Amino acid sequence: MIEIDDDKPHEECGIFGVYGHVDAAALSTLGLHALQHRGQEASGIVTFDGVQFHSHRALGLVGDNFSSEDVIKRLPGSSAIGHNRYSTSGATVLRNVQPLFADFEFGGLAIGHNGNLTNARLLRRELVHRGSLFQSTSDTEVIVHLIATSRRKTVVDRLVDALHQVIGAYSLIAMCNDMVIGVRDPLGVRPLVLGQLDGAYILASETCALDIVGAEFIRDVAPGELVVIDANGIRSEQPFRKVKNRFCIFEYVYFSRPDSVVEGNNVYEARRRIGAELAREAPVDADVVIPVPDSGVPAALGYARESNIAYELGIIRNHYVGRTFIEPSDRIRHLGVKLKHNANREVIDGKRVILVDDSIVRGTTSTKIVEMVRAAGATEVHMRIASPPTTHSCFYGVDTPQREELLAAKHDVEAMMKVIGVDSLAYVSLDGLYRAMGETNREVGQPQYCDACFSGDYPIALIDHDDVEEGGKLSSLTQHA
Ligand code: AMP
Repeated sequence: MIEIDDDKPHEECGIFGVYGHVDAAALSTLGLHALQHRGQEASGIVTFDGVQFHSHRALGLVGDNFSSEDVIKRLPGSSAIGHNRYSTSGATVLRNVQPLFADFEFGGLAIGHNGNLTNARLLRRELVHRGSLFQSTSDTEVIVHLIATSRRKTVVDRLVDALHQVIGAYSLIAMCNDMVIGVRDPLGVRPLVLGQLDGAYILASETCALDIVGAEFIRDVAPGELVVIDANGIRSEQPFRKVKNRFCIFEYVYFSRPDSVVEGNNVYEARRRIGAELAREAPVDADVVIPVPDSGVPAALGYARESNIAYELGIIRNHYVGRTFIEPSDRIRHLGVKLKHNANREVIDGKRVILVDDSIVRGTTSTKIVEMVRAAGATEVHMRIASPPTTHSCFYGVDTPQREELLAAKHDVEAMMKVIGVDSLAYVSLDGLYRAMGETNREVGQPQYCDACFSGDYPIALIDHDDVEEGGKLSSLTQHA
């Protein structure tokens, strides 16, 4: 079995764009700061000042790289796009940091991508065969080369031509001399919203990035929609054949920020409803409901209210360390959990505890937390998970380990209970998750969301993955240089 996940470009990102504001770079810095949860590995901003493009890209957090006035001064212009990148494996190199920038016959173009292309390796192989010289190992660069080799005349037509050749999940923001473009893949897997500030237009992955700059939310960019923002204002195109929307349900479960409104749903409220649904589906007699912070907090509140059991902060999180999950090696990941959480003995000792988290991936977090809660005197520990078992890897832009490493892919609930050491374990059902999202049930054959990580039902063809499974040769795209 070839380990394709280990070396695939893990892109799980936040994007931000501004057209027509004198403080474009400063606004982008703030926007990226609000989107930091979508990617902590690296960030970049490219601006255009009417004559020239300016770029600053760096490894590390937004606050570390963009907080100085000097950096902002070096990014003049009224158009800007920014990107936060998230990666969990492979060496991190600056040439993979977005936005990517290239000079074309029509001028410069910068592009930032949230998502993952599922036929990037195949396209890259073909492009390299035709003479393209790749600068990075990012799947996004395929789009850059497809734009370069397109025979269409306008930038928008070239981009559309490129996007007709790629398969996958993408929300993109592109910027050239005279416009900023936002586009979502036809299924609308990843989010993208449009806002307005002082007459300028803003594009962002989530509404929390509009809030931070005081921009007014206009609307979500629709699945398959391309918006072009230029001196004439904004225009919308629908260059793709209409297909059923499949927004990523995991954005509600974990990935988006709770204060964001995604596709009309407040994420916090959605998580609380999932917690309430979980309480109805999997009640248990206990003394206290405790969230695994921060990811389990809203669902735990929903669970506690629905079950009328006290809610307490029994685990305290140290906010000054990064997310456990992004640490690159197993050894560090284990260490990270200890660094991050501590039990609050006062509310645990002698109690029957219900622990609530949003998901179990490898089971590392749950195992450590359960151990910690028992050591703090819990008499019983019941784990409740506000999503169905994560049984499949995501190929559409949320980084998950390869299938073999997913606890729920190789164990049933009974076996998982033993692994993480709890007295009981229950997950919300897939139908329950849909009900919490306001749907009646998951319609068999016609689900309204992408729920592949829970169902294995992949709505977009996994071209590269299937190629590898069938013994295809990996291109150099798979190696982080
Ligand atoms: P694990 O310790 O591997 O079971 O990971 C579970 C924890 O990671 C949970 O607390 C989740 O909130 C969090 N988590 C789930 N999915 C992701 C993801 N794609 N990226 C980062 N963290 C995640």
